[in-house]
Amino acid sequence: MVAIAIDGPASAGKSTVSKILSKKLGFLYLDTGALYRSIAFYFVCNDLDYSNIDVLEKGLKNIDLKLEFRGDQQRVILCHKDVTDSIRTDKISSLASDISSIGIVRKFLLDFQRNFAKENNIIMDGRDIGTIVLPSANIKIFLTASLEARAKRRYLEYQDKGYKGSYDEVLESIKQRDYNDSNREIAPLIPARDSIIVDTTEYTLDEVVDIILDIVKKSVTV
Ligand code: C5P
Repeated sequence: MVAIAIDGPASAGKSTVSKILSKKLGFLYLDTGALYRSIAFYFVCNDLDYSNIDVLEKGLKNIDLKLEFRGDQQRVILCHKDVTDSIRTDKISSLASDISSIGIVRKFLLDFQRNFAKENNIIMDGRDIGTIVLPSANIKIFLTASLEARAKRRYLEYQDKGYKGSYDEVLESIKQRDYNDSNREIAPLIPARDSIIVDTTEYTLDEVVDIILDIVKKSVTV
């Protein structure tokens, strides 16, 4: 099986790029951020305080998380409900960043993620895919862009979807997530030593896809 790990900070374009690449290569695409978002969503919706270890452990035991793949779409089914769209808010982004720093949450999702790579040629995006989840991935990309470029992209995306919030709020929220994700003790956001860093600030989406396709073609036979 071939595994491509794409890590990087919030709004670097990981999921957009991964979706296109997965279509072109015929690989399965797994968006691991959606898993952390779903866990955060579960605790918020059930009004459960995940900072209490007993509540957290009990909650994780009760979580029934499934992924369904329809075409290039990954749908997240949490306790029999499709939450794919509900987990995309700014509030859930921040809570996901917070809850993802907890060791037992990361452990809970580790095998879940690895199992997909056992049976599929896969593109997996996240923060720790090249470092922790799939350390022997065939290709590791660290996709990044300036804070301003990422905030602008996320702001436009929110506007498109009709979500409220100013550009400054989006920028602050991304900045905070960058800090949390990069400074946590467990599985911090850092490029794997053998990753290739692709800075997308000055590139169009098509250019980024071409750059990564080139890397893939030079590294593996697909
Ligand atoms: O990628 P996305 O923005 O959807 O991820 C939401 C949050 O989940 C991130 O800010 C990060 O804290 C967490 N995450 C993580 N490890 C991953 C994927 C996401 O800690 N592999």
